[in-house]
Amino acid sequence: MRFSELGLDLRFEKQLEHQGITTPTEIQAQAIPTALAGHDTFAQSKTGSGKTLAFLLPAVQRVMKQKALSKRDPRVLIVAPTRELATQVFNQCRLLIAGTAMSCTKVLGGENFNDQVKALRKDPHFVIGTPGRITDHIEQRSLQLHGLELLIFDEADRMLDLGFEKQLSTINQAADHRLRQTLLFSATLEHAQIEITSRDLLKSPKRILLSGSN
Ligand code: ADP
Ligand code: MG
Repeated sequence: MRFSELGLDLRFEKQLEHQGITTPTEIQAQAIPTALAGHDTFAQSKTGSGKTLAFLLPAVQRVMKQKALSKRDPRVLIVAPTRELATQVFNQCRLLIAGTAMSCTKVLGGENFNDQVKALRKDPHFVIGTPGRITDHIEQRSLQLHGLELLIFDEADRMLDLGFEKQLSTINQAADHRLRQTLLFSATLEHAQIEITSRDLLKSPKRILLSGSN
């Protein structure tokens, strides 16, 4: 199986080869076509199984190939539980969009708020951040989500463990319009709240559950 067989542009296949990545993992093989088809998706697979690319590749391809649904950026918002995890997603996103006109920025707790406001004013296509700081920017109106096309919750189980349920709900409401697609990724299904939360965030989702199978 090759990445291009999942509906991805050949450009990604070549780019990933430079990182030594040639064959999609199981979660990538299942989640990428589903996400590209526009479905809301609930995807669970264990830590280390390659979930970051499973959502970033369809997200980047969408911004690269599809005309924007609205003139308002950002088009994609990715919420991750910690500064470290959000930074990993940001770094991978930067690699994928290198050499294109696409842009991304990160908004992490503990970093200078005004610098982030300035970066957000430049209308990046992708915003990646932690739940508390994203919520702060929504409340201060430095981050507006009216044009958002794709909302991604990474490591959702961990975000619930850390008590971010209210922030997830705030983000969900700020980006509430009918054209939005939502992807939710989780390493486990153990958190009692995950099913309840996913029902609020996702509309008729495709479910990809790989617990125990990889
Ligand atoms: P998860 O989010 O499921 O814990 P990550 O997305 O962080 O997993 O990926 C774990 C590691 O696997 C990263 O170092 C990533 O570069 C690598 N990786 C991702 N996809 C592949 C692949 N298809 N083949 C080989 N390595 C991969
Ligand atoms: Mg991950």
